[in-house]
Amino acid sequence: MELFNVYPLTPINIVRAKGSAVWDEQGNEYLDLYGGHAVISIGHTHPHYVETISNQLNKIAFYSNSVLIPIQRQLAGQLGDVSGKSDYSLFLCNSGAEANENALKLASFHTNRKKVIAFSKSFHGRTSLAVAATDNSAIVAPINQTDNVVFLPFNDEDALTQAFAAYGDEIAAVIIEGIQGVGGIREASIPFLKLIRQLCDQYGSVFIADSVQCGYGRTGTFFSHDYSGVNADIYSMAKGMGNGFPIGGIAISPKFQASFGMLGTTFGGNHLACAAAVAVLDVMKQDNLMENAAQVGSYLIEELKKFDKVLEVRGRGLMIGIELPTELSHVKKDLLMINKIFTGEAKPNVIRLLPALNITKEIADRFLTAFNERLKA
Ligand code: PMP
Repeated sequence: MELFNVYPLTPINIVRAKGSAVWDEQGNEYLDLYGGHAVISIGHTHPHYVETISNQLNKIAFYSNSVLIPIQRQLAGQLGDVSGKSDYSLFLCNSGAEANENALKLASFHTNRKKVIAFSKSFHGRTSLAVAATDNSAIVAPINQTDNVVFLPFNDEDALTQAFAAYGDEIAAVIIEGIQGVGGIREASIPFLKLIRQLCDQYGSVFIADSVQCGYGRTGTFFSHDYSGVNADIYSMAKGMGNGFPIGGIAISPKFQASFGMLGTTFGGNHLACAAAVAVLDVMKQDNLMENAAQVGSYLIEELKKFDKVLEVRGRGLMIGIELPTELSHVKKDLLMINKIFTGEAKPNVIRLLPALNITKEIADRFLTAFNERLKA
């Protein structure tokens, strides 16, 4: 069978990793500032993570969700503590798309409505409802649910108010990333988030905060846009939750208890995935990783703003977009090939940094020196 490649492949075979360092099969070391797309939250092969998963694997890896699985409760408890949302309920699944799929389905069940408001350049995943709420023509198939999705310009308060005035009582949900990731690291404004909250309350619609990329402590607060003080009804999560082990989930406000019956999955919340997620939260707490993300992130953002050739630095904490003039679109590739630093991109001229939350100031400085070198070359 030929392997289907989702992305154009970088011809580097990464065989080993530790912290923010990864090695190829020839033993060359690279600095990983992309974390496999915001997935590596506590660094690669963290000893506590390896030990917790290994211990679990030696006991039991999987059993049906129809029996009591104490580690799921432990995870829910720890998530409640770290996020401050201990009155929310946790539903566990396997990916970001599945989390958003269930969030949208739950909103539709709960409100008995069909319409969804999403925003330009959004990315919510590749499954049926999630892709329908995604504004990315490359991944939307002709068969989809987009008839029920209204895309509004991001951060446009007038457009949002007008949409609710026109058909607010048909709107099941508003789904938004606190900071758009694939869309280019664009932050929702706080007044815009407040307006979403206000209109959802007024019209009985569900506010879904897609925290898959921008959540899980990456911005220095736990869920998407927590720093705004605005609460969402449902938070979807995945990526950093398992530090590489597939796991996703939604945190659901107590308002929706009655609609829970429709949620379900075979693998979601399996013992091994929960062990991975528990280990991540242990390390986040023990090593104050949210605080570190805020501190090192602010430092990086401030330093990056000092470069003349940088058009704009966007983001918060360790979710950073660096916009360069198009003629410098080669910088990302050069950072990898010459300086051995993995970064990501949003558009060819926007470099995305999504490092592990425990990167140090020294690592940030290593990047800044290499970046300076590349801009001068
Ligand atoms: N939401 C956001 C904001 C994302 O960035 C992504 C993945 N890029 C997803 C959802 C989908 O997650 P997954 O790939 O785990 O299905």
